Amino acid sequence: MTYVYRFGGGVSDGGKGDKNLLGGKGANLAEMASIGLPVPPGFTISTAMCTRYYEDGEQFPQDLREEVAAGIAHIESVTEKRFGDAQNPLLVSVRSGARVSMPGMMDTVLNLGLNDETVEGLAKKAGDERFAWDSYRRFIQMYADVVLELDHGAFEESLEIAKEDNGFTLDTEMTAEDWKKLVTVYKGLVEEQWGKPFPQDVQDQLWGAVGAVFGSWQSERAKVYRRLNDIPADWGTAVNVQAMVFGNMGDTSATGVAFTRDPSKGDRAYYGEFLINAQGEDVVAGIRTPQYLTKAAREEANAKPASMEEAMPEVYAELAAVFDQLETHYRDMQDIEFTVEQAKLWMLQTRSGKRTAKAALKIAVDMANEGLITREEAIARVDPAALDQLLHPTLDPNAKRDVLTKGLPASPGAASGKVVFDADAAERAAAAGEAVILVRVETSPEDIHGMHAAKGILTARGGMTSHAAVVARGMGRPCVSGAGSLSIDNKAKVMRVAGREVREGDILTLDGSTGEVMLGEVATVQPELAGDFGTLMAWADEVRRLKVRANAETPLDCQTARDFGAEGVGLCRTEHMFFDQARITAVRQMILAADEAGRRAALDKLLPEQRADFTAIFEVMAGLPVTVRLLDPPLHEFLPQQEAEFAEVATAAGVDVDTLKRRANELHEFNPMLGHRGCRLGVTYPEIYEIQARAIFEAALDVAEKSGEAPIPEVMIPLVATRRELELMKAVVDKAAQAVFAERGKTVEYLVGTMIELPRAALKAGEIAEVGEFFSFGTNDLTQTTLGVSRDDAARFLSTYVEKGIYAKDPFVSLDVDGVGELVSLAAERGRATRPGIKLGICGEHGGDPASIAFCEQVGLDYVSASPYRVPIARLAAAQAALKAR
Ligand code: PEP
Ligand code: MG
Repeated sequence: MTYVYRFGGGVSDGGKGDKNLLGGKGANLAEMASIGLPVPPGFTISTAMCTRYYEDGEQFPQDLREEVAAGIAHIESVTEKRFGDAQNPLLVSVRSGARVSMPGMMDTVLNLGLNDETVEGLAKKAGDERFAWDSYRRFIQMYADVVLELDHGAFEESLEIAKEDNGFTLDTEMTAEDWKKLVTVYKGLVEEQWGKPFPQDVQDQLWGAVGAVFGSWQSERAKVYRRLNDIPADWGTAVNVQAMVFGNMGDTSATGVAFTRDPSKGDRAYYGEFLINAQGEDVVAGIRTPQYLTKAAREEANAKPASMEEAMPEVYAELAAVFDQLETHYRDMQDIEFTVEQAKLWMLQTRSGKRTAKAALKIAVDMANEGLITREEAIARVDPAALDQLLHPTLDPNAKRDVLTKGLPASPGAASGKVVFDADAAERAAAAGEAVILVRVETSPEDIHGMHAAKGILTARGGMTSHAAVVARGMGRPCVSGAGSLSIDNKAKVMRVAGREVREGDILTLDGSTGEVMLGEVATVQPELAGDFGTLMAWADEVRRLKVRANAETPLDCQTARDFGAEGVGLCRTEHMFFDQARITAVRQMILAADEAGRRAALDKLLPEQRADFTAIFEVMAGLPVTVRLLDPPLHEFLPQQEAEFAEVATAAGVDVDTLKRRANELHEFNPMLGHRGCRLGVTYPEIYEIQARAIFEAALDVAEKSGEAPIPEVMIPLVATRRELELMKAVVDKAAQAVFAERGKTVEYLVGTMIELPRAALKAGEIAEVGEFFSFGTNDLTQTTLGVSRDDAARFLSTYVEKGIYAKDPFVSLDVDGVGELVSLAAERGRATRPGIKLGICGEHGGDPASIAFCEQVGLDYVSASPYRVPIARLAAAQAALKAR
């Protein structure tokens, strides 16, 4: 047969490898049948038919009708019942089943094959009139809803009226006669709404249901679900037609759902619920409270009603054996549906169970230790991005949330605290021991101290690589950015959102992993880093090729990064050091100086400060490479922005207000991102880079002397476009090194290299590598300059671009492999051609993104560098990439 695949009764036309053709449910039913598990017989109409059905203008071809007849004959012969037979009727279920599960999106019809005659036969055969008529009314109700698409409210209402008239509260109080009467009412409703009587021909019923399942593939909710989950429309759904088994045939019957291990904690314990004398949808619908599966779970929950283990010990033992068999067979935790019909167990579904990050980790490590899977498989089983959930305190999933709005999930983790609207207030409150949430329209480098002091950061503007997002991730502070519906009034110290007001001092909670902003405090739970986490990380380290470094610029960040397993610093941004209160005045004096002599005088004040910064970092990173990037941002960022500040700053810097304003005006740029920044600063004011380089080498020698172990400084020049720029800057750095080495009579090993952040640099990488000893891909700027999209303004429209499929993902989050990626691989190739073995890394935000890391493995970079909290994610992603490449 071409479109129909049978299973059950010793036949399996398909198996678990046929998911694309049979859908997940169909493939696993065939597989379970093939390994001898009790599966009600049935057949699957393949997804290829769904595609053809739409191609043919929603028609069923004749050959399908013949194949389905053969499928029904198969079920009839196994069950020894006849479809549509008045004495011995076969009833079937008709269910959808796509390649991947689409929970609640698709349609199901149960008890199909009942009509005015077969209902009598069913009653006689089962010896239970009530059961037969209950099944018939359920069937009419479901069919009317799913296939005929009639208003189901009217059906529910009639049931309520019937119960009321009888003075009943529960469905179980309804007698056979009551159901019979309701069936008459239901048939009347169908005729009234549909204009035709309820179909009595079982073949009409069947084809109506098959058409409805195919039709549900194009329903609005299925389309939306597919869009959200990247499921192609041409996959189609399969249809499973299967003999009904009844969990509602009295007290020796039951239905349930189970996981072979705990899907939330990962413990090795069967986990699930069941209901005696019920059909599947009763468990899902929550009409009756389900009972526990195991005695242990019931006792732990202090619940009364007997567990399945206690109520049906024999069937339970059989079920437990099936759980073990399925887990061994599939080598993964399974999510299972079963039915017990008069003490006989039937399996209705199995699939790999969804689980939390914590459970994924525990299950992977346990299964490898049990010998069920290899360590490599364990590594591949855990989604690196999900580790995020484990590294930060998270919101207690059981706590109540009053959600005000949602922004971008810019930096994961949860935080609660009092609202403050400026960085100084944040610092003051934190010094007084208060937890605060810093709320800003957007943040700038001047807010760093407040961001550090705050427990969490909320901004109304900015995308995933905005200042707030990058800095917050680096600090491990939860951050929600770009919450566009916020309106912030800094003067009145109030923010408004969704018609509500939040004032300074009110408590907010942020969930940086979802972007949710909540009013009031929500309880959190702390992460656990030892145990399974440590074990899996150690396994990952054994297989990865890529080294993992951290983007870090404070000793604390460096320590966090080392604790998380970083093998060096891939990017130490130096500009944040310049904003420190103690030295901002000297920085401003340098900027305001009229000539080189004035600048040097100011820089001399900065030298010891800068040396102390590097010494502290090098001490933490001793023995490891530390890439220090020389000053990058435009100088005007260091000057005051607000009129009110000018007088104070002018006095502190020793100039008059007019001079200050004139200089600020001179430095003003229309497009600072493409302006006087990066190595352009070093080209115009070489003394700035010279002093920074001197501070680096002095600090390296100091640490080497003190601890006996030197760091390996890698001095990095930002925003280089041409060979000549790098040549000039390298000369400045080398000269500073020679001077320091001569003064001290000692040397340290060091490298001078460049960031590749501009398309020109990528194209001319061959020439640039004649000078540069390493490349680090600054993919934040490289994305911005290649796409011509400002990283600070992208949030406003990029989501629309992603929705419309112009970019598959936000290119500032996950590398645009086709475009920016081509420049990266081209630069790597040209760089290597000039300087074989040139050290290559990435330090843009993409260095912590698993998909981008997979690309870095392909291109053969030497390392990726990510913010400290993403180091473990990068380690696991690098291991997975290495395994894939094998
Ligand atoms: C980059 O551009 O990718 C980079 C790492 O530098 P920054 O984010 O500081 O511009
Ligand atoms: Mg950059």
